[in-house]
Amino acid sequence: MSKLIAFAAIQGGYKVVSSVEGAYNQMMESYSADTKVEFPNTGYYLPIIYSLTGLKVEKLEDLRQPLEFAKKLLPPHIKGRHHLPYLGPLLDAGMAAVLSCEIAEALRIVQDPEFYYPYEDPDLENGKKWLGPADDIILRKRGVEFVDGSTSGFAAIVGAASSSAMAKKIIEEYQKRDLYIFCAASHRGTSIIDQLIEEDVQIGWNTRIVPFGPDITSAAFALGFANRVAMSFGGVQPGDYKKNLLYNKERVLAFVNALGDIGTEWGVAAAGCVNWGFPTIANTDIPEILPTGICTYEHVVANVPEEEIVQRSIEVRGLKVQVSEIDIPCAFGPAYEGERVRKGDLHSQMGGGKTQCTELVKMAEMKDIEDKEVKVVGPDVTDIKEGDTLPLGIYVEIAGREFQTDFEPILERQIHHLVNYIQGVMHIGQRDISWVRVSKSAIEKGFTLKDIGIVLHAKMHQDFGKILDKVQVTLYTKKEDVDKLTKTARAEYKQRDERVENMRDEDVETYYSCTLCQSFAPNHVCTISPERTGLCGAYNWMDCRASYEINPTGPNQPIQKGECLDSRLGQWKGVNEFVYKASRGTVDHYNFYSIVHDPMTTCGCCECIASVLPTCNGVMTVNREYAGDTPCGMKFTTLAGVIGGGATTPGFVGHSKFNITQRKFIRGDGPTDKDEGGLLRVVWMPKGLKEEIKDRLDERAKELGVPDFYDKIADETVGTTEEEVLPFLKEKGHPAMELESIVG
Ligand code: SF4
Ligand code: ZN
Repeated sequence: MSKLIAFAAIQGGYKVVSSVEGAYNQMMESYSADTKVEFPNTGYYLPIIYSLTGLKVEKLEDLRQPLEFAKKLLPPHIKGRHHLPYLGPLLDAGMAAVLSCEIAEALRIVQDPEFYYPYEDPDLENGKKWLGPADDIILRKRGVEFVDGSTSGFAAIVGAASSSAMAKKIIEEYQKRDLYIFCAASHRGTSIIDQLIEEDVQIGWNTRIVPFGPDITSAAFALGFANRVAMSFGGVQPGDYKKNLLYNKERVLAFVNALGDIGTEWGVAAAGCVNWGFPTIANTDIPEILPTGICTYEHVVANVPEEEIVQRSIEVRGLKVQVSEIDIPCAFGPAYEGERVRKGDLHSQMGGGKTQCTELVKMAEMKDIEDKEVKVVGPDVTDIKEGDTLPLGIYVEIAGREFQTDFEPILERQIHHLVNYIQGVMHIGQRDISWVRVSKSAIEKGFTLKDIGIVLHAKMHQDFGKILDKVQVTLYTKKEDVDKLTKTARAEYKQRDERVENMRDEDVETYYSCTLCQSFAPNHVCTISPERTGLCGAYNWMDCRASYEINPTGPNQPIQKGECLDSRLGQWKGVNEFVYKASRGTVDHYNFYSIVHDPMTTCGCCECIASVLPTCNGVMTVNREYAGDTPCGMKFTTLAGVIGGGATTPGFVGHSKFNITQRKFIRGDGPTDKDEGGLLRVVWMPKGLKEEIKDRLDERAKELGVPDFYDKIADETVGTTEEEVLPFLKEKGHPAMELESIVG
């Protein structure tokens, strides 16, 4: 905050307080001291004064005390080069101004009791457009909406828009968002209320557009209303100013829009509202107050163009979009998560080895995306025949003041269960190996791909509203678009994976659990360490840490690894205890770095499954995309069916692609003279997988002293049985040929 700004606003405080004092002194000369002072039909006296100080103003002479109180709040005059490091004096000046505004309005009512029209709707024919302070009947009826969630809060608008059409536009945007609109003050002889009347917009409490009064002092009615809500619905006692302001900051989501040329009086009133946690967003050059701390974000933001003021206000106040309904033609919910779409009921599918299906969540700039926008680029499922396939790219862009790129993988992993929640639609896999199956019954009900976007938008707001403000979804179904997205996505996945590249399990005391898959494999618990990423490939240690930060009671809990029971196999006391509980007593221990000895449990969404090949004295692994036979005698799908239920199956283990080249991969089964040489046991993998991980594989092989290891690993071109593979391994001098027996 610059000194000059504070100076101007504090000067404004002096101006407001002294002019009200002048008016008061004058009235004390012409009226008797016990002239009745009141807002009509209320038990809350002058509500700002009553709520903050406990003073009950009933007569003209009672006003002296709050007035003196306001004067005392004014900070000492700041002369010349005086230094003002804190926000405090400015807030005090603002509060002094707000109290004075309420006094000014009380004086007006003494002088002209008919000035305000104390009903729910104005009487325009008789020129009664200003409603003034709400009485207690209106308060009860309307105030409860601030508590029961029927409204998110209010926009207090002072001044007038540049045109009446613009006024209407701004107001309608707020109405759409369930906000009340409290109006006060005018600008260049007109007010936003005059503009709305000109546009034939109905005003009054019934349309939530409340014409409080014609001057800046009338803004006191809005603050008084807020404080009465705190007293009557929040149980806050009169005089407990701290609780009252805090209640408003936390529970009444309100903000001020200042439209028009702002004098120092408006400036100090804006500073006053900061005490309530209500920020001001102005379309002119009002002095900005930017340090955050009291309001959710900035305090006073200047020079926001009228076209952007609604969006900006919502961001600044941190108003959350409430999405309560998920508007799709199919039933939706966790009940449908485990439901399959079988062959006979299949209408169409995307991915699953037939076409490319990729999903990616990326952070975006607030200004670059539209919340709720869902686009389908290319043909939809309704445009194709039964039995057909489409490529699919699900691209979700997310913006939010609290959002970080670290959160992308967590939100991306939600796509799996959220799409599964749609009745008649099935989702398998993740990242660039997703698979979506749509049933005939879903199509009959009217399902289209757009519904995936609607679901993702709504659920992400519902479940992660705390960290995001906007969700935009694009669904690509043209091959070239999907390929392009896949390329981008793969670069992203690589970057994410490598964030844990230089971390070692020894470096951390905390691992993370993941129980996201328990809806399919009820007792399955992944434990994720820096060197053992989740078997689905979608979660690494960093991701779990971020997920815990977003949702401390969610599926990723920190596990203190505790005493190390076996460092070579990777077993810890703390992990065992956690897994025992989280698996409901079915698994009491497992090893992180072994396939032979009690390996970690496996669920059906692993990227790869490794299997011991006893004849070859090694291990093979197969990725989901590879549909052919393997030397262990089972295809991927069969393997997944056999071991993917969440149990420990010695001889088999699910893992991520990235994990193959993590240093501790099955190190417990590697050469005893090398601490981290588990990779050297790998004798077979599909060619596609081998190529995909080649760079990292070569790097790791070099570290292990076998730089040409890549060429020693057999693939389906060599053979798909142990008998076919073994001669190749011998011929190439595969290191596993020299190792101690894998079956012990
Ligand atoms: Fe979590 Fe494991 Fe399921 Fe991945 S496979 S989502 S890490 S439980
Ligand atoms: Zn799973």
